[in-house]
Amino acid sequence: MKRAFCVLAALMNEQKHSVIGKMKPLTNFKEWKFRDPPNYAALPIDENPEYNVPMAVKDAVFSKVPTEPLTGKLHLVCASDPALIDLLDLDPSVADTEDFINFVAGAYLPEGGLTVSHRYGGYQFGFWADQLGDGRAHILGEYVNSKGESWQPQLKGSGETPYSRFGDGRAVLRSSIREMIASEACHYLGVPTTRAAALVVSDDHKVWRDKTYSGRSRQERAATVMRLANAWYRIGSLEILLKRKEPHTLKLLADFIIDNHFPEVASSGEDKYVKWYSEVAHKNLDMVATWQGLGFVHGVLNTDNVSLLGLTIDYGPYGFIDHYYEHYVPNTSDDMGRYAYNKQPEILVWNLGKLAEAMEPILSDAQKQEIKDIHATLDDYVKTKVLKTYLLKLGLKEIQDGDHKLVEDLFTVMQLKMADFTATFRQLAEVEPHQLLDKSVLETKWSLNKFSGEPTWEKWVQAYQERLKNENVSEDERRERMVRVNPLYVPRNWMMEEAIKDAENNDFEKVRFLLKLFQNPFEINEEAEKRGYSSQPPSWSYGLKLSCSS
Ligand code: AMP
Ligand code: MG
Repeated sequence: MKRAFCVLAALMNEQKHSVIGKMKPLTNFKEWKFRDPPNYAALPIDENPEYNVPMAVKDAVFSKVPTEPLTGKLHLVCASDPALIDLLDLDPSVADTEDFINFVAGAYLPEGGLTVSHRYGGYQFGFWADQLGDGRAHILGEYVNSKGESWQPQLKGSGETPYSRFGDGRAVLRSSIREMIASEACHYLGVPTTRAAALVVSDDHKVWRDKTYSGRSRQERAATVMRLANAWYRIGSLEILLKRKEPHTLKLLADFIIDNHFPEVASSGEDKYVKWYSEVAHKNLDMVATWQGLGFVHGVLNTDNVSLLGLTIDYGPYGFIDHYYEHYVPNTSDDMGRYAYNKQPEILVWNLGKLAEAMEPILSDAQKQEIKDIHATLDDYVKTKVLKTYLLKLGLKEIQDGDHKLVEDLFTVMQLKMADFTATFRQLAEVEPHQLLDKSVLETKWSLNKFSGEPTWEKWVQAYQERLKNENVSEDERRERMVRVNPLYVPRNWMMEEAIKDAENNDFEKVRFLLKLFQNPFEINEEAEKRGYSSQPPSWSYGLKLSCSS
């Protein structure tokens, strides 16, 4: 009862806060404070003082763990101005101050902060992996911004926790840059995602990593990323409580997430768990549809990497498809292609089946059946959602008979001719359909040019023209719709590799440029054009893959 009251009081407080309206961004970081206490302090927190000894934690959702700051000379690699301003009410000038850099390095905690690591488990590559948890991440507190939104800054790479298992609690510069850029880029590309505010690297703090899993480790510099989300719960957050038979904590956590993050579900009484399941499921499937539309492959879709808030979470060996290949797998550890591009929607549905299982201890028999029934509809739901996403990329809003084939046939010819995923759709927006068979026009578009003279392309163009007529789409409308969903720039692995190479020598210009570029991925950027960021990827990047080493 007391806990419910606290939540209500906090919500009212947030509303009051939002009435105050737009606040001038803070320039003095010392004045920046967390909500005290954070709402998550109401959940069971393990307080074992041996915080950096790997152990099986019991009856808790979090462990109270201090950060282990990065040591040595620190550099701010980059900061996301919009994340600082819009989410944290901070003036971007703050990012260059010592206090802020220390904050991102885990060495300074603003008032009201409470550092915890989250306990979760997960199915990895289809098998139950037992306790995983935040092995190198710390949630620092909850910041309620001037819009009344609650954001939890989380450090990644900030030291050992009870969940570190065999790891050192650290993250290296290259993987931190990849996470920083992709989370911000995905946000602007229209993907529901966790955000990233800033990245700090140390000159002197080194860790050993075997980057390509070749058996040869080398020393790399440690870095920390400050990520942002409203909350960091995953399917695995509930799974660990199922497997360890802690139904009481399971119910506490589910109720807490619903009350704090799904207010529209919280008021639905008896049925709330069923409604919540449906919300989480549909949010995640809407998210995966945005991935399919961008050719984004997450790389490691284990249940511990699937957010209960429907956010893209834990950017590791991900990739944006260059030349189209339906079975594209960016992760060198995924031998079986379990998490390939074309498998992502069905894997999300599989993962959501695991969520249904995890919720069983708090459900009545009738609710279990209702959730099973919902789960049975998800496959169709996501297929339709993905089809709609593809159609919109072609400038079409309705679904008509034969659309599945229209899309299939396009992907077939793209795969056959190794056309680029991102550039093909963008260039389709830029060329009028009646010119799509004109060789001299195709020659001006490097990805479309691959189709020149291909008979199946000619057939497809005819079908596309027919289809546009059937929906009565004017050329202006078509182009306008298409340039809004088909980006010019996506964070391709080769672009990241180049930026990382420079950053290893403390030249952060390319990283910062990319971060800024992806705030407007749909608009032409002259400098990006000069750098070839919407051109054919360089031949050295062909088949580039990433390991999980991070
Ligand atoms: P990921 O593959 O990054 O999603 O990580 C899977 C699990 O391994 C999570 O529980 C991470 O916290 C943990 N982990 C990954 N790298 C490290 C590390 N260097 N030190 C401690 N734990 C780690
Ligand atoms: Mg993870």
